[in-house]
Amino acid sequence: MTIRLSSVTKLYGSHAALNDVSLSVETGDFFVVLGPSGCGKSTLLRAIAGLEPLDGGDIHLGDAHVAGRHLHVAPEARNVGVVFQSYALWPHMSVKQNVAFPLATARRARSYVEARTNACLETVELTAYAGRKPSDLSGGQRQRVALARCLAQGAQTVLMDEPLANLDPHLRTAMEEELAEFHAKSGATTLFITHDQREAMALASKVALMWDGKILQADTPQQLYDRPVNAKVAGFIGRSTLLSCDIAKVRGEKVLIMLAGEAFEVPCVGGMGEGPARVMVRPEHVRISGEGRSLMTVLERVTYRGGYFEAHARITGNGQSVLCNLPHNAAPGDVLPIALDGGWVLPG
Ligand code: ADP
Repeated sequence: MTIRLSSVTKLYGSHAALNDVSLSVETGDFFVVLGPSGCGKSTLLRAIAGLEPLDGGDIHLGDAHVAGRHLHVAPEARNVGVVFQSYALWPHMSVKQNVAFPLATARRARSYVEARTNACLETVELTAYAGRKPSDLSGGQRQRVALARCLAQGAQTVLMDEPLANLDPHLRTAMEEELAEFHAKSGATTLFITHDQREAMALASKVALMWDGKILQADTPQQLYDRPVNAKVAGFIGRSTLLSCDIAKVRGEKVLIMLAGEAFEVPCVGGMGEGPARVMVRPEHVRISGEGRSLMTVLERVTYRGGYFEAHARITGNGQSVLCNLPHNAAPGDVLPIALDGGWVLPG
């Protein structure tokens, strides 16, 4: 089921937790909303679930108009499953009873409840744990019970609010794989929120980067990383440096930029003009160069990052500093010739 928001606004006093948010989630997407704490992610999820009335805009779930002017469809009538950060399992019930609960309260036939519950427990590989109480499970297993319960409801749309945030790092990675599998098996349209970009990149078919109540960019993880729409997105996703440069020549979706008197070819959006610009340079775009077009740099700071050294290299020709990776240790003050292999000229 698709999820469509158009110009959704949610106010808390004078603060807009959601400020004119529009987004489209397609059927079967694993759509991740990524952003720093307090940017409005939970509010967005709660608005879709029907837990927050809107102050403006519309929400459609599939063909159903569920929120808009004088319209607020109750959460239970929206057919969305929600998995929260806290597992919200009933402690006195067994794993199986927890999973069966929404079906049983929906007054489904007993044989149906039994079959469906067993199938969902099988999906999350908890059949052997069906009789246990939540207190006798690990964090990851509890999260799987919550997922199975969500699956049992048969919701075609699943909303997840940082479901892995409380897990140990090693368990998180394992659960990420399970979530991806869960998504592939259930085919449910999934909207997942997190502040962890690594998690977002690993899981998402599409990522929306949210900032201060607004969506800055909604794209595939690769587009977000390779082609950020502005400096904020570039700064939030991965490691990079923004350098001031001059566009000397435009060649379609590539430009020739001048940096400290040297020319480099860098990708960009079409339709850019000549003149001052900013280029995003990631460490993998910086080549340590002995020959050809080189920029002389002096290392300022070198940090071991496990497997490689991260260095801040100051370009002697213009005083700008660029982040690069070195395979070997080096000392501040060392001279290093570099060249640019790629990058991204920021639009606008
Ligand atoms: P996130 O999930 O990205 O951490 P939230 O959606 O929880 O962000 O919050 C967005 C903004 O709205 C924050 O500034 C938060 O303080 C504010 N906020 C959230 N819920 C309420 C509430 N019930 N009353 C007042 N302000 C709220």
